[in-house]
Amino acid sequence: MDQTDVAVIGGAVMGASVAFWLTRLAPDLRVTVIEADPTYARASTALSVASIRQQFSTPVNVAISRFGIDFLRSFADWTGPAGGVPDLGLRENGYLFLARSAEGAATLRDLAAMQRGLGALTQVLEPHQIAVRFPWLAVDDLSAGSFGARDEGWFDNMGLLSGLRAAARAHGARFVTDRVTGLTVAGGRVRSVTLARGGDLACGAAVNAAGTRAADVARMAGLDLPVEPRKRTVFVIDAPNARHPEAPLLIDHGFYLRPEGPHWITATVPQDDGPCDPDDFDPDLHLFEDVIWEQLYARAPGFDAVKVVRHWVGHYAYNRLDQNAILGPHPGLPNLFLANGFSGHGLQQAPAVGRGLAEHILTGGWQSLDLSDLSVDRILANRPLREAAVV
Ligand SMILES: Cc1cc2nc3c(=O)[nH]c(=O)nc-3n(C[C@H](O)[C@H](O)[C@H](O)COP(=O)(O)OP(=O)(O)OC[C@H]3O[C@@H](n4cnc5c(N)ncnc54)[C@H](O)[C@@H]3O)c2cc1C
Repeated sequence: MDQTDVAVIGGAVMGASVAFWLTRLAPDLRVTVIEADPTYARASTALSVASIRQQFSTPVNVAISRFGIDFLRSFADWTGPAGGVPDLGLRENGYLFLARSAEGAATLRDLAAMQRGLGALTQVLEPHQIAVRFPWLAVDDLSAGSFGARDEGWFDNMGLLSGLRAAARAHGARFVTDRVTGLTVAGGRVRSVTLARGGDLACGAAVNAAGTRAADVARMAGLDLPVEPRKRTVFVIDAPNARHPEAPLLIDHGFYLRPEGPHWITATVPQDDGPCDPDDFDPDLHLFEDVIWEQLYARAPGFDAVKVVRHWVGHYAYNRLDQNAILGPHPGLPNLFLANGFSGHGLQQAPAVGRGLAEHILTGGWQSLDLSDLSVDRILANRPLREAAVV
């Protein structure tokens, strides 16, 4: 039987990051990444809006983003020439979260204080300050906005994936095109993974980095994970009367919006949000006309003339319990490591999560960053660590 020390199931950003860190920290380790579709046509990584923020409601997520932004900024230093990606085109335009009630403003203030305590630069702006900084926004109904003038923005998602993959490969990781169809468990450990093209791969440890199919992989080992695919339709729009390349990623009631070259990207969460078939990529085109456009126009009158120039559908790997990642070894199967349930914020978390899992695999515990708040224990105890700032 073919053998490896660590079998990583899923080779998009999370699997590639784990492989990158494992091979960097332990050059002699045999790491095999098994990816069913190396075109990544349906991977969330490729279908992402590719943004990073410090403005989370859960401290561990802020800590993850503190490392994430440093890593993205100095990507070429981390990955070296072997990564082949000199820079990720990071644009730090910031995020602007808007609140419309006194209670909402108080929440933004509390969260900003927590985020600043962890090193973020979040400021809370009064409506008149928002109007000065972003004069194209209507502020009459607002009570406050929280804005990160640095350390937040967007970047090249496929550059991140490709640099991590190339660097991991250069350090000795093996990338295999195949689908994992089974896990063999004996004596309370994963012993091997079964590949669709035939044959088993014996492993010392396995990593579940299967994105929206994470629950399927967990089920192969007899475990339940509350992770399901949820459909998100993203619109690229042209708005000739609204050209604001310096605009932040705006989080308003009912939609988000950010510039994308000469155009804008916008999306919303459908009212009837629920699990979808992992192969359903039909767009919910009505969402732009029925939900987004009216609110967008009310917030920014320059969006009076708008054309949808493109759209795409991606799936969140949605954690039903608390919309937060599920990380680390499963107590029922201590050599199966989870990197699952990112619920729409996994791209920015890949650097810190990859490093954390690699260190855990190699040493038996969290090292550089304590990620235990995101461990599967809370899922098993039904103790949600709810992320309120889900976009
Ligand atoms: C519309 C949209 C917008 C988003 N915006 C942001 C954002 O702005 N910022 C942010 O941080 N995050 C964002 N996200 C989330 C982010 O893209 C994901 O959390 C992240 O890419 C997850 O990476 P992953 O490697 O875990 O999963 P994926 O990218 O889904 O990759 C999983 C991989 O596993 C493979 N696989 C599955 N099962 C098997 C198997 N049995 N055998 C072998 N291979 C298998 C799949 O082929 C796939 O390539 C967004 C997501 C979407 C859909």
